[in-house]
Parts: sequence; structure tokens; C-alpha cells
Amino acid sequence: MHYVDDRGFVYFTTVGGSDPLLARGQRVRIHHQGKSVLGLIGSLAIHLQDREGKQEPPKWHELFIDIGARNQAEALERVSIGDLVTYDSGFAQLHGELWVGRACDDRVGAFVVAEALRRTFARRETLQACVVAASTIQEENGLFGATMVGYSAQPDAALVVDVGHATDIPIADKKRHGDVQLGKGPILSRGSVNHPLLVRRLAEVAGTHGIAYQQGIDPRRSGTDADAIFLQRGGIATAALGIPNRYMHSPVEVVHLQDLETLAEWLSLFLGDLKRDERFRQAW
Ligand SMILES: [Zn+2]
Repeated sequence: MHYVDDRGFVYFTTVGGSDPLLARGQRVRIHHQGKSVLGLIGSLAIHLQDREGKQEPPKWHELFIDIGARNQAEALERVSIGDLVTYDSGFAQLHGELWVGRACDDRVGAFVVAEALRRTFARRETLQACVVAASTIQEENGLFGATMVGYSAQPDAALVVDVGHATDIPIADKKRHGDVQLGKGPILSRGSVNHPLLVRRLAEVAGTHGIAYQQGIDPRRSGTDADAIFLQRGGIATAALGIPNRYMHSPVEVVHLQDLETLAEWLSLFLGDLKRDERFRQAW
């Protein structure tokens, strides 16, 4: 948040990619000094709207948060300029293995990496690789944490876990965005930042162990931390792995728990299969 007007309404901007069409009418939490303050993104009642002509998406500065304050001074007793705002939409079971929550992107990625590490630790007796796991900061606004950790960890290979678009919904066009379904396994992408030898090795491990995965493409860039890591240190062999996700960057992102499980197991099996001297270098 960056401004409170005379009447105590709060104005804000975005940190990452957010859709202003989804904002009005949402409950939010303003995070202030260890507490969270409930707020509402105000919307004009449908009766009062001028419905002539085409409706444009709102600009962020046209949206405001109502925290029930009577004026600016009262609002600033409860919140401060610079406080972060998140949607107040909880984590819930949609049905069966499908779960809904805000910011599954990329909290589910952090979960999968932690779970893969836990499973790899259980296989440590035969492990030949040194494994470093990182949860990075500020991917959404510049891949900053990945740039730092790619440089400092200097790995022989990097596996990046993020979400990928599930297109198994009526409004997604498979002809434009491919066919990815929830519950059919993680996404292994080819192209741009994905090193062909690393991708091939991941596919081999999946084949050996009967891991179900889906094929994706990154024709230009991956839109993940992989874009920063593969550029470090003269080039790091990198592969981006995706968790199918419906309604990405909305307050109601949906994932399938089996996809998380499968990816954690796949990563752990891959790490366990690596040989001590194995490098992903294309011969000249
Ligand atoms: Zn994202």
C-alpha cells in the first residue's frame, strides 16, 4: 500500500503479476507489524453502475481498500505505507485430490522441493551428488533471489520447480497453450533455458521408474527462476519442472496433490540416480 486518502481509504499497487479484473469485491489482509488487518476492495453496486459502452478493466490506482476507518489518521493507526497486502482466501479442499488456495504459485514449488529433499535424505547412504535446495525471493518481480543463489551455489545442474498452466478448463485454448491437465503429472519442458541433456536424463529416470509426466515447451523463456539461473557462471545446465495449476495468479489457484507427490518423488529419484562425475556438458 502506498497512500491513504482523507477518508481513510487505502491505495495500493502490485508486487507481481496480478489481474485487476479479479480484484474488486475481494477481502484482503494488510500485514502490519505482525498483525493482519482485514480490508475490502470496494466495488460500486451494480445498480449504481453506468453500464453504457464497453467496460474497461480498472487501473490499479482506481481500486481502493476499505478497512472501516473514518479518516486518514484513524487508518494510519492501524496500517502503514509499505505494508504488504494479500488476498484473504484460504486453502481448502475443492474435491478429492484437488485443493484451492491463493499463491499456490509458488508455495507448492517450495513444498515439493522440501519434500524432495526429505526423500533424498532418506536415500543418503547411496547418494553421489551434493544437493543444495533453495527457496528464492522475488521471482515475480525480477528473478532476484534466483540470480543470487545461482551465482553463489554454482551448481553443475539446477532443477527449478514452479507452476505451469493447466489448460483443462473451458476458457483455455489448447491450440494456443497446449494440453496440460491436473493430476496427469508434472510438466517437463523443452526449449530455451532447458538444457537438452538434463531434460533427457530426467525423462530417462521417469521412464525407468514409471513416473507419469506431461510435456511442455518454453519457446523463448520459461517465466521461472530457470531464466536467471542458467545465465550464471558462464552457463548452468538448468531444467524447469512445472506443477499443473488452474487459475494462476488468482485468489483461487487449484492444484492436484498427486502432481506434488509425483514431482517430489521424481526429483528424489533423479538425484539418487546421479553419478559422482556426471556433468551435463554437450561435447564439441
Ligand atoms: Zn507466478
